[in-house]
Amino acid sequence: MDATEFRNFGKAAVDYIADYLENLRDRPVLPSVEPGYLQELIPKVAPQEPEKWQDVLADMERVIMPGVTHWHSPHFHAYYPTANSYPGIVGEMLSAGIGCIGFSWITSPACTELEVAMMDWLGKLIQLPQEFLNCSDGPGGGVIQGSASESTLVGLLAAKQRTVRRVQVLHPEWDEATIKGKLVAYSSDQSNSSIEKAGLLGSMPMRLLPTDDKCRLRGTTLEQAIKSDQEKGLIPCYVVATLGTTGTCAFDCLEELGPICNKEDVWLHVDAAYAGSAFICPEFRHLMAGVNYADSYTFNPHKWMLVNFDCSAMWLKDSQYLVDAFSVDRIYLKHRHQDRAPDYRHWQIPLGRRFRSIKLWMVLRLYGVEGLQQHIRRQVGLAKEFETLLRGDSRFEIVTETSMGLVCFRLKGPDTLTKKLHDRLMARKNIYIIAATFKDKHILRFAVCSRMTESRDIQFAWEEIRGQAEQILLGNDA
Ligand code: PLP
Repeated sequence: MDATEFRNFGKAAVDYIADYLENLRDRPVLPSVEPGYLQELIPKVAPQEPEKWQDVLADMERVIMPGVTHWHSPHFHAYYPTANSYPGIVGEMLSAGIGCIGFSWITSPACTELEVAMMDWLGKLIQLPQEFLNCSDGPGGGVIQGSASESTLVGLLAAKQRTVRRVQVLHPEWDEATIKGKLVAYSSDQSNSSIEKAGLLGSMPMRLLPTDDKCRLRGTTLEQAIKSDQEKGLIPCYVVATLGTTGTCAFDCLEELGPICNKEDVWLHVDAAYAGSAFICPEFRHLMAGVNYADSYTFNPHKWMLVNFDCSAMWLKDSQYLVDAFSVDRIYLKHRHQDRAPDYRHWQIPLGRRFRSIKLWMVLRLYGVEGLQQHIRRQVGLAKEFETLLRGDSRFEIVTETSMGLVCFRLKGPDTLTKKLHDRLMARKNIYIIAATFKDKHILRFAVCSRMTESRDIQFAWEEIRGQAEQILLGNDA
């Protein structure tokens, strides 16, 4: 393909994407295909001769779209949002066009330097303490990871490094393997599955501690767990607190957990994957009170801040533990400026890294802080609108306080009613919501996700839910 063809193909693809997004409301949010559907639609082997791009682009509708779950549909209310915006998409295109691998400063100085600057823009925007910023005098700084899951694992490995070093001083007779075998991590039973996975991958038992009646991890619970492990000769190493849990968007009590972690010299990581974007609005910032106690902090602009996946922002108060833990040097990786700029390969698991900060730069400049704040506030407002509709119908109950863009509810009565409601909604495919459990009860989670969701879509979803509930309660639930 030459540049002329690329221009034509690229422009047609941009038109296709714009048409797709602008008309998403008209597509069923969930696909109707069965496993294996795609194998019937494409040849068994790669084509011998080059094909025409027009034919390949046409196959997007024939082959791909029937099997797409439309995450950006205004009727997608499952999980949490995954970001999508035109500035984010163009940022992705430009990043792909440059196609550099910026694992060290010299392998593409702009890639490192824009990331350093964007992480400071973002850190200042949510008013993170100065010591987390790249522009601070100390060893703190920010980096873009691919996912919150990676941030949690990276935090765990840095915590391990710090604890081993500390304990080696206290117990010079213990070797590293002995110390590592005693380390323990903690999070809540509401934390995301990726937290438990980080424990598995990092070979550190992750205790999932019980939460209070608002699904929050409390200080006393952590304190008791730490004490009990210490009595067994174990060494508490890592705590992951969640701001905005996946199930009900609950906020762990950071101001209680933080002082305990600091006193016990336990690394505190904060996972604000979804809700963290809201802290660009001053009125939500009280929910991050206690962040000053944290050693590392993460939120995903790729969830709720309109930066297309992947872009997980992570800050550390002291990046040196990470650099020490992850440093593997080879002569071909060295360069003469390595003391003057971060080599981000030491801050992450892979060696290669994409130019992800371009997306962040595009979104921050083209929306501006005000545009992004408006987006968050609008979605929180839409969740409130849905809550009001539910409250007006006595057959439903709201099970937890509506938090950010998430409403958790159920049909009053036995769980079977709510389960049936969910089954019906899934079968009809007009809206997509997922189920969860809360205090052993079956509940439904309604999240405002797409940037294109409007009041009419909330009304549409409500009519769909209310109508199906009515059928079930009338006994027409065959
Ligand atoms: N943490 C929380 C609280 C989440 O809600 C999620 C995903 O929804 C994650 C972590 C995982 O995020 P990622 O897919 O970026 O690893």
